[in-house]
Amino acid sequence: MSEPVVIAVAITGSVPRKADNPALPVTVAEQIASTREAYEAGATLAHIHVRNDDETPSSDPGRFAAVQDGLRQACPGMIVQFSTGGRGRDPASRGLSLQHRPDMASLSTGSVNFPTIVYENHATLVADLAGQMQRYGVRPEIEIFDLSHLHGARRLVEAGLIDARPHVQFVMGVKNAMPADPHLLDLLLGEARRILPKATWTAAGIGRHQAEVMDWALARGACAVRTGLEDNIRITRDRLAGSNAELVALAADAVRRHGRRIATPSDARRILDLAP
Ligand code: ZN
Repeated sequence: MSEPVVIAVAITGSVPRKADNPALPVTVAEQIASTREAYEAGATLAHIHVRNDDETPSSDPGRFAAVQDGLRQACPGMIVQFSTGGRGRDPASRGLSLQHRPDMASLSTGSVNFPTIVYENHATLVADLAGQMQRYGVRPEIEIFDLSHLHGARRLVEAGLIDARPHVQFVMGVKNAMPADPHLLDLLLGEARRILPKATWTAAGIGRHQAEVMDWALARGACAVRTGLEDNIRITRDRLAGSNAELVALAADAVRRHGRRIATPSDARRILDLAP
């Protein structure tokens, strides 16, 4: 019997809410309601960014805590993962939310070009965020935007800042970073297995690449898939997603198509080495 698959939903992200994308949840109440629907559709991990009142990206730990508290009520057992990502946020404030001890937090281990900015992750910031996660008992999800980021993760393992079984996510299809390409995924996976042999892994396809990257990941035995409006707002070229739950339902179909089962919250916690 093959291992069930964790469905991760990235509900909001940090790209402005466009007038043509009213489904994107940005207030705390919208985020809780949208995640609850996604949870009912099979998602067991929520990746969280929060916004200020003007909808710009926020580092306010109080807002992160409010979303986490809401999700603990509305979505029992769901894994809460805070973003420590950069866009529009002061580097010094990116780890402030970790004091609220989410189950997980994203951690980028290197810098990379993004569509309109350099996503800057200085080595000292990476080590500092990893150290804070360790101090607060937060499990990192290592974001891989480039091959060198795998080696960044390995250096953190060697420095004792993360454990030897990290969860890594390959991010494909970000303009100016890695293209979405199955050969490239094989190459990344090969390197991950060589230098981080105990790692669990998933892959995220951005924009129109969401479904195909999910398929490639499932075909290669990924323990999780990722979907959500942060990464992609369309069902087809001509049709916008109506909600995060609609995207989760498509991910659930893909999981079943590959002959796998959708993880329950307790499965998800076991698979990702988190407390029940
Ligand atoms: Zn994110």
